[in-house]
Amino acid sequence: MGKTLLDLSQANQGVVTWHALSQAYFDNYLARLTLGQAMPQQSNPARLTIMERIVKEYQLGKLTYAQAVEEVGLRAFHDVIPRFQTIGTNKEIVKDKFYHADFGRSLILTDNLFRIAEGDVADLHSQLDSRWGLLEGAFQIAHDHSHLNNDLRDVYIVNGYQRTTLTANIPFLEGYQGSTCFYCSEPIAKGDVHVDHVLPRQVVHHDEIWNLVLVHPDCNLSKSDRLVGEHFVHKLILRNENIMGSNHPWKAKIEKELGSTPTQRAKSLRKHYDAVKTILGPYYWGGSAGYNPQTDPFYRKLITFLNNGKTLSLS
Ligand SMILES: [Zn+2]
Repeated sequence: MGKTLLDLSQANQGVVTWHALSQAYFDNYLARLTLGQAMPQQSNPARLTIMERIVKEYQLGKLTYAQAVEEVGLRAFHDVIPRFQTIGTNKEIVKDKFYHADFGRSLILTDNLFRIAEGDVADLHSQLDSRWGLLEGAFQIAHDHSHLNNDLRDVYIVNGYQRTTLTANIPFLEGYQGSTCFYCSEPIAKGDVHVDHVLPRQVVHHDEIWNLVLVHPDCNLSKSDRLVGEHFVHKLILRNENIMGSNHPWKAKIEKELGSTPTQRAKSLRKHYDAVKTILGPYYWGGSAGYNPQTDPFYRKLITFLNNGKTLSLS
């Protein structure tokens, strides 16, 4: 953000359009992340920042330059604009703001910024670059990513799509899951339900039904975007086979995504699970407190029904 402000101040325009801001911000990130081996932009190795994702999608040909800039304008500024000039406690530095934001429309640069930008701009840029480098260096220590992880991640980004409306799937999923939470198997009250991606969306970048389950809002928060344990993968495979036993239109979609036989489907799903495990590394979620697959009535009922060649509909 500092480098972007310096760039923008050079045009001596007090009001900067949101588009110009987005473009300058994107250009700075693009230049930074194109330098040799791109460095991580935050400490959690399981995540990409919004800017890393946008730059990656642009580099992989998923977004045009204009689309990437638009994405930046829509998604990248919610944290950085309010926080950039309020970080730290040095009252001398933060008492005069650098800008005022008319969010989504324009950024109004203040005299305070222009005063600073009258100094040695090259030197300021180089100071900001070394700050940026320090941060990345610290983040790098938390990452032990091989190229394999990044390549796997890229495959999901290339094949992925923007988030769709998940709530439309609730009635359908209820039918095949009973009105119990996928993670803790306790009943779900009507209306108090979240649709969760078992394999985290931030990795798989899709909303395919085979990966969606109904859960308590609390269980969803507790899991966040971590990787579930093996028993939930087994449960998900069974849940999907339960759908396959029906004549629901989703059946064809799951078949297309995962395969035409139960063995193929289980294998495909495990392959995705292993890929996500490789990408996320040791970032497991153990499950809702007290959950035990042995005593999960839905899980047990499913196994019994599927073993008898039947489908369980609990709607
Ligand atoms: Zn739950």
